Amino acid sequence: MYDYLIVGSGLYGAVFAREAADRGKKVLVIDRRDHIAGNVYTKNVEGIHVHEYGAHIFHTNLKQVWDYVNRFAQFNRFTNSPVANYRGELYSLPFNMYTFNRMWGVVTPEEASAKIEEQRRAAGITEPKNLEEQAISLVGTDIYEKLIKGYTKKQWGRPCSELPAFIIRRLPVRLTFDNNYFNALYQGIPVGGYTKMVERMLDGIEVRLGVDYLEQKAELDALAHRVVYTGAIDAYFDYALGELEYRSVRFETELLDQPNFQGVAAMNYTDEETPWTRIIEHKWFQFGKDDNGADLSKTVISREFSAPWKKGDEPYYPVNNERNNALYEEYRRMAEQEEKVIFGGRLGEYKYYDMDAVIASALKKCEEEFS
Ligand code: UDP
Repeated sequence: MYDYLIVGSGLYGAVFAREAADRGKKVLVIDRRDHIAGNVYTKNVEGIHVHEYGAHIFHTNLKQVWDYVNRFAQFNRFTNSPVANYRGELYSLPFNMYTFNRMWGVVTPEEASAKIEEQRRAAGITEPKNLEEQAISLVGTDIYEKLIKGYTKKQWGRPCSELPAFIIRRLPVRLTFDNNYFNALYQGIPVGGYTKMVERMLDGIEVRLGVDYLEQKAELDALAHRVVYTGAIDAYFDYALGELEYRSVRFETELLDQPNFQGVAAMNYTDEETPWTRIIEHKWFQFGKDDNGADLSKTVISREFSAPWKKGDEPYYPVNNERNNALYEEYRRMAEQEEKVIFGGRLGEYKYYDMDAVIASALKKCEEEFS
């Protein structure tokens, strides 16, 4: 008999497993995939750590979380500075003085701010009610039209006027020449890849791969006193109240016989016509190479295509609009009745969580559980 059955070996599951094992609990981790680490999984291709489920750049303001992950990996000093490509015009991200200069020719913060104010006033927005209004009020109509409108529509499958404003507030707007995408005190990528980091978290803990919890729920439940479930909450209840909405992502990955494809880890294609949202060139997360000595003459790129989720697809992004949040609330109430089960992580809590928030939430849950 195990104390804890942990369903899913992503960050939430791995942190919970580590904390439980360190308190002397007997833990079994299962995952339906044939590898650990959930969507942070990286695969080694010719020494390049390929982010198989999309780019993951660790960033946090939480010292506790930063110290925690540093126990399991050494982090490099990667700083995310993606480039936006609008029909061949290249712009700096996040929105900063380089972006404003390229867009309007303005040179000083005062000029940039006046330009944004002028466009905001012309659009007549006082209280932004949706992503479109929020974006225009933050950066004006020109940037909205070229760098936000098309990208967001591709990523979320609906126009900005039908999306919640909070999504765009993830992006900083700065009147400085700072291309660092994140406003975070700590940032980096684990040297050797995320898989190695999660492997270290799970050190000494029993892991069974290729095991689908929901298919053999009764037998698996019988193995443990408590269950930590990190899969989709609606799937757990067999969609009894209806489906929550997710966005899925499809990747077309290629190994290229050239040393440098785009010169940056992430290039966003912000027009509406280009079918992919972005291209990731994985080696730049490692500055071209890391300790494992990637072959510098080659590179791996992934084109990322956003898609609506349907049963059987991998859910990536919860669509946190009013309808879905209300439905989630109902599922959450059902989940409270499952006394043996803890629901956690991006899918278990139906939240557009970053990695650090997932870890913080797992650590908090552990404090409650083991106090
Ligand atoms: N976004 C945009 N243009 C860009 C990058 C992002 O309009 O070039 C918007 C888009 O709505 C996206 C949101 O900002 O959904 C958040 O982007 P982020 O890069 O944080 O998304 P993630 O990396 O989680 O996919």
